Amino acid sequence: MRRKVPQCPNCQSKAVIPILYGMQSGQAGEEEKRGNLKLGGCEVSPGDPNWHCKDCGREWASEDTSAG
Ligand SMILES: [Zn+2]
Repeated sequence: MRRKVPQCPNCQSKAVIPILYGMQSGQAGEEEKRGNLKLGGCEVSPGDPNWHCKDCGREWASEDTSAG
């Protein structure tokens, strides 16, 4: 399953990584170190951002949150 990565709505960068919530596994930590994703908090609230732009730091919520 491939995940579509959106462009940053602020700077149109494609250096966008997903923000994961409630997923503090060792593998997720390794991926975060590599800059492949960002770990959020243990709890996710409606409207929380799930994408992070590595270029400008913008975080936003995508419309499609049903993936997974
Ligand atoms: Zn950006």
